[in-house]
Amino acid sequence: MHTTASDGTLTPTEVIELAVAEGVQVIGIADHDTVGGVAEALAAGARLGVEVVPAVELSIQNRIEKDFVELHLLGYGIDYTNPDFVAVLDRVVQARIEQKIAQIKVLQRDGIDVPVEEVFALARGVPGRPHIAQVVLARNPDRFPSKAALFREYLAEGGKAYVPRRFSLRLAEAVDLVVQAGGVPVLAHPGAYPGVSDPAAMVRRARDEAGIRGLEVAYPYDKNRPHYGASPQQVAALISQFADLADSLGLLKTGGSDFHGAGKNIALGEQGLTLEEFACFKSQWPNPKPQSGSVF
Ligand code: AMP
Ligand code: ZN
Repeated sequence: MHTTASDGTLTPTEVIELAVAEGVQVIGIADHDTVGGVAEALAAGARLGVEVVPAVELSIQNRIEKDFVELHLLGYGIDYTNPDFVAVLDRVVQARIEQKIAQIKVLQRDGIDVPVEEVFALARGVPGRPHIAQVVLARNPDRFPSKAALFREYLAEGGKAYVPRRFSLRLAEAVDLVVQAGGVPVLAHPGAYPGVSDPAAMVRRARDEAGIRGLEVAYPYDKNRPHYGASPQQVAALISQFADLADSLGLLKTGGSDFHGAGKNIALGEQGLTLEEFACFKSQWPNPKPQSGSVF
């Protein structure tokens, strides 16, 4: 789940309070490229009786590894205070900030009203394209019919304001980083990468070449590209297909809602693991040994 530390709209404490209200007992706080929300979430979780898994969602943007351009790697159970880990995240975030400023400048050059300070004030924590989109859509209501149109023309890969980051981890580096911080490296939402034509082949490569240990299986595919609007049956089919893939590759299975507050139309806990599945996953860290077929 995401908080105001990245592009979620609820603070870590608010996320925990909502989890209590919804009866969700365990949550992973996995903000984009930052652990800035973890300490607050852990404190709120201890106070309110929710188990919080310290996590991160690292964005991989590396053009050298063709199929691995723009993947998301989840690191679960990390020591979020590990100084080496935090130092690398700081570099990633700095490159992200520079990238966002460059993207905003392209929009401004095209006459679009989008003040840099307003995007960063809205972001509070680590800025992402959704923050830029929110400011652009609010200040230029007649210019773009929808967020999708803005992404298509400007912010998505191939768009006019798409700027690669000066520094980004390769997938294998991100996996090593998570492992060194005591966490379990899990490839996020394998069916939600519009640029990946063969997810099964990509996941196999991510295991063989980069060493991922798990696969995010349960995921609200109907709320994200490229399966936006999929039926419950289609979502169930995707989840079952990725569960089979994880089993066949000996990868641990995880699940999540990718909750972003009001930033995405996803309910907290809409997808995830049962407590039994979570207990099984947890029993495998910090040194998970994948076992084909035997993991929940
Ligand atoms: P960033 O962290 O700046 O790379 O932005 C990534 C976030 O932008 C993702 O988590 C999505 O929520 C959002 N996003 C990326 N592509 C699109 C798109 N085509 N339409 C809407 N949202 C998108
Ligand atoms: Zn993601």
